[in-house]
Amino acid sequence: IIEMDGVNKWYDQFHVLKDINLQVRQQEKVVICGPSGSGKSTLIRTLNRLEEHQEGNIIVDGTTLTNDTKNIEVIRREVGMVFQQFNLFPHLSILDNVTIGPVWVRKMPRKQAEEIAYSFLERVGIGEQAHKFPGQLSGGQQQRVAIARALAMQPKIMLFDEPTSALDPEMIKEVLDVMRELADQGMTMICVTHEMGFAREVADTMVFMDQGQIVEYAPAKEFFTNPREERCKAFLEQIL
Ligand code: ATP
Ligand code: MG
Repeated sequence: IIEMDGVNKWYDQFHVLKDINLQVRQQEKVVICGPSGSGKSTLIRTLNRLEEHQEGNIIVDGTTLTNDTKNIEVIRREVGMVFQQFNLFPHLSILDNVTIGPVWVRKMPRKQAEEIAYSFLERVGIGEQAHKFPGQLSGGQQQRVAIARALAMQPKIMLFDEPTSALDPEMIKEVLDVMRELADQGMTMICVTHEMGFAREVADTMVFMDQGQIVEYAPAKEFFTNPREERCKAFLEQIL
């Protein structure tokens, strides 16, 4: 459902993504890890065109990513994203945060959008708080709202960029539980995270990046029991 072929990206002179090749099947769970600055965020942001690449091909759900804004709209509809900083609209209620996408992008009638919003908020355990504002919720609750908001667009693919790294330890589990459940339901997911417990349980495929390159790309079992690359071994030892 995702295909990256020889993808290269530069920020001015800085070569941030070097010859990236990645294939993701439907329902596959991919976890990307690696040191700070290795290009993890940049990589997943190219998948919904929050960042442009300069060389190579990216095909998402049959659509090739080009500068054509039509294509970008198509992709953004199919690809949900959850960020480290929840990025909720602070002046909108929780309910409005979740309905705004379906109403404005999918042109869904408000009533239907609200029904869907409630069902996703229930799913992430926030049903009761729909009329509050983001500032009145804990970080973990806000992140669960951000997940519900992405899901309300009924995406085929979900991208997560360190969704728990801004959270206090006691809130990490509640967010990972929601992600685990989503994985069990068969969502195609690409997660940048250093939560290796989660990765071990959920990932089909592990990717380790360093300095803009994919250094190790392996089935999760193999990755954790027998990492081939020294850099990857050293990194795992550091964080496990
Ligand atoms: P972290 O674990 O800290 O989130 P990361 O692996 O997600 O790191 P990226 O955010 O993808 O790394 O950044 C990769 C490199 O690109 C870094 O060296 C960063 O300084 C640089 N970079 C990121 N965004 C920009 C930008 N908009 N302009 C120039 N350089 C950038
Ligand atoms: Mg990052």
